[in-house]
Amino acid sequence: VSTRTPLIAGNWKMNLDHLQAIAFVQKLAWTLGDAKHDFGDVEVAVFPPFTDLRSVQTLIAADKLELAYGGQDVSAHESGAYTGEISASFLKALDTGYVIIGHSERRQYHAESDEIVAAKVKAAVGKGIVPIICVGETSDDLEKHGASAVPVAQLRAALEGLPKGTDVVVAYEPVWAIGSGQAATAEQAEQVCAALREVVKESLGDDAAAATRILYGGSVKSGNIAGFMREPNVDGALVGGASLDVDEFAAIVRYKK
Ligand code: PEP
Repeated sequence: VSTRTPLIAGNWKMNLDHLQAIAFVQKLAWTLGDAKHDFGDVEVAVFPPFTDLRSVQTLIAADKLELAYGGQDVSAHESGAYTGEISASFLKALDTGYVIIGHSERRQYHAESDEIVAAKVKAAVGKGIVPIICVGETSDDLEKHGASAVPVAQLRAALEGLPKGTDVVVAYEPVWAIGSGQAATAEQAEQVCAALREVVKESLGDDAAAATRILYGGSVKSGNIAGFMREPNVDGALVGGASLDVDEFAAIVRYKK
C-alpha cells in the first residue's frame, strides 16, 4: 500500500493576472476549506505566472492556507545576462516549494532539449525546490515507439547525475492528451507511470522510487480523476484547463468523495 501523499497540481499556464490570482486563491481556499475533512490527505498546489507569485505567497502566508505553489519554469542559470529568465534563487526567495520543468509547451515552443531540462532540474534541486519533471510522448512517438519509450528516455535524461534519494515529482503527460479533451485511459497512464517508477529506482534508488509522486496529466477533469487515482502508480494529477475553474478544480481535489 502506497504511503505517498497524493498531489493535485494546477498549472494555470499564461492565465490569470495578479488580481485575478488573488480572487482565485481566496475562492479556492474558501471552497476547499469548507470541506477540509474530505480532502485533508491530498496536497494541493497551484502554478501561477511569475508575476502572480508574490501576491499568491503573501495571501497564503497571511491566511495560513494549506496550499502549495510553484513556478511554471526556471532558468538553468544562477544569475546574469539572461534577459527574461527567472532563477531558482528568485523562486526560493518567494518560498516556492515546487517548479514545473520540461512541460511539453516549453519543449515544443521554446526548444527545450533533454539537456536543458536536466540543467533546470539541477538548478531547482540545488536551491531546495522540488522539480515537477514533465515527460510524455507525442501521437507520432506513440505510433512509432509505443507509449513508454519517449517518456522513459526523457526521465532518464532529466535525472542524470542527481544524488540518490533526491526529492522529485514526475508528471506523465502524453502530449496528445494535453488540452485535447482526449485523456489517456487509467490503464494507459498506469502502464507508463509504472515504467517511470522503474527509472526513478534505477536513477535515485529504491527509497526514492517508493516515495516519489508520479502524476498523470492530460485532460484531467472531475469526471475522470477517480479512475486515475485508483491506479497504484498514479499519485496525483497535473491539471491544466480544468484548474482555472475553482469549482471544477476543487471537485478534482475531492476525488475521493
Ligand atoms: C497541462 O498542460 O499540464 C495539462 C495537463 O493540460 P490539460 O489539463 O488542459 O490537458
